[in-house]
Amino acid sequence: MLDTDIAAHESDSPKEYPVTKITDIDTEKIYENLSTQIKEYNSKAQLRLIKKALTVAFDAHKDQRRDNGEPYITHPIEVARILISLKADSATICAALLHDVVEDTPVKLSQIKEDFGEEIATLVEGVTKIEGIHFDSKEDYTAENIRKVLLATTKDIRVILIKLADRLHNMRTLKYCAPEKQKRISEETLHIYAPIAHKLGIFRVKGELEDLCLRYLNPDVYRFLTHKISEKRAEREKVAAKIIQEIQETLTEKGVRAKVYGRAKYFYSIYKKMQKKKLDVDQVYDLIALRIVTKAIPDCYAALGVVHDLWMPMP
Ligand code: MN
Repeated sequence: MLDTDIAAHESDSPKEYPVTKITDIDTEKIYENLSTQIKEYNSKAQLRLIKKALTVAFDAHKDQRRDNGEPYITHPIEVARILISLKADSATICAALLHDVVEDTPVKLSQIKEDFGEEIATLVEGVTKIEGIHFDSKEDYTAENIRKVLLATTKDIRVILIKLADRLHNMRTLKYCAPEKQKRISEETLHIYAPIAHKLGIFRVKGELEDLCLRYLNPDVYRFLTHKISEKRAEREKVAAKIIQEIQETLTEKGVRAKVYGRAKYFYSIYKKMQKKKLDVDQVYDLIALRIVTKAIPDCYAALGVVHDLWMPMP
């Protein structure tokens, strides 16, 4: 599961550049770590190819650094890690590791094709193409442009997945960029990439993207919300887990065929609700959202009865 790790973004401490030397990066250890995670959901993963992609990316980006001074290779590795948390297939993971190689290094697409095959090369090419599409003004943030991005890549949805993971990692490390760039990237993310994640139903990615955007576009509100909502996300998730268990047990007991899903609400969605309904944060009660999926319609009503039995409904 993709974990938001919002706590890491909450402190507004001055920029500390965590500078790692390229010689500190142990690709063998990183490979071990990635492959362990991959094997958990895919016993047939092409691990040798993934290792090769890691090696090629490492060599290609060897002399490059990110805005925060970290060796560039940390970025494609983290993008791959995000995709692994979404249970991506081997080709997607390889393409994630190689996604900036054609754009930023002398390695040619033809080389990728030769070494990794048509499928992975096409994915890398797709991600590189999206890099070329720019949204410069607010007027560009229209449904039409969102569609354009989607259409440019519909041939393979995995291209969009890689792009979303790429953007998520860039947003996670945005605090090292200049304020102007932070605003521009956040605007684009909020209006283009978060809606795409929403359309694809990847709600954890959408939620984290929006929370990070709020942090840069409306820092006062973000700070207010993070402090005001005393139960931090981790605690809220714990509460959610407890409630889910309680409902699930009662449903099973009563013979209702249903599965309960839940999540803590994101700051951005709380903010939107406050705005829309003109509420103060103290008036936002539903900080935890639950979803009960039933087998059949009668189970649905039975589940509602169970919930109303457990808690008093609010008019
Ligand atoms: Mn990238």
